[in-house]
Amino acid sequence: MEIKVAGQAGYCYGVERALRLTDAAAESTRKPIFTLGPIIHNPQVVESFVARGVNPIEQIDEASSGTIIVRTHGVDPLVIEQAGEKGLAVVDATCPFVAKAQQRAAELVRDGYNLVIIGEKEHPEVAGILAHARGEATVVEKAGDAARIKGRKPLGVVVQTTQSMENFQQIVAVLAAKVSEIKVFNTICSATTRRQDAAKKLAEEADLMIVVGGKNSANTSRLAQICRATGTATHHIETAKELEPAWFADVNVVGLTAGASTPQWLLKEVIAGLEEMRDV
Ligand code: SF4
Repeated sequence: MEIKVAGQAGYCYGVERALRLTDAAAESTRKPIFTLGPIIHNPQVVESFVARGVNPIEQIDEASSGTIIVRTHGVDPLVIEQAGEKGLAVVDATCPFVAKAQQRAAELVRDGYNLVIIGEKEHPEVAGILAHARGEATVVEKAGDAARIKGRKPLGVVVQTTQSMENFQQIVAVLAAKVSEIKVFNTICSATTRRQDAAKKLAEEADLMIVVGGKNSANTSRLAQICRATGTATHHIETAKELEPAWFADVNVVGLTAGASTPQWLLKEVIAGLEEMRDV
């Protein structure tokens, strides 16, 4: 059995930066240290930070002193204000690509556009973008939802950084047919596109795909969806322990990819697990 790893897999720029900032905070900043939500959507990495005293909390109210780390997804600007009022130190690890989407959303609303955010309604990045638009936007997940948008004013569009290009283009096509003026900012980040393209290409040549990363990671789940859409059987796992020998019975080529929040050490463990199975 041949094991092939996608050309682009694992940590992206934004995640590496956030982890570097968190690492530095864990060493030196005012304690206790909290992250607003898990620092990245990878339970194994979050556990390793908890062991170093960096604890995820859901609400700013849970912190009365110390340092708050804002993760790559960004946050409502009011939360940063509240943290300052409470005397908390703030480490802002919002990914610059997410910050760009927030800024574009704010500009479109300011300039009188009826804003549409393409993305997952429940995703924290989308909530942050919506907050930067003062809540004056409609979140659209699929082309079917776009059909319900009223086209009275010019439409402005931004997109969650980890959306697939295909979904983005389908929704924009529906919206563009409704209005005479539409201003679209493609805020999908290039790391996402490169990982998705590499995963699709590999899935097309593999007999089976293994996608490694947090089950709670939107970008990892999307990679699994993209691989499945090629018709190749795909398993989304978090660790090598989940590999099942039965999956590999008639497999000549197994493809491997990992989300932007998956550390290399987890990917290497999965490769080692696959090699062990192959060599039995
Ligand atoms: S996937 Fe892109 S937008 Fe998201 S953290 Fe990574 S670099 Fe930033």
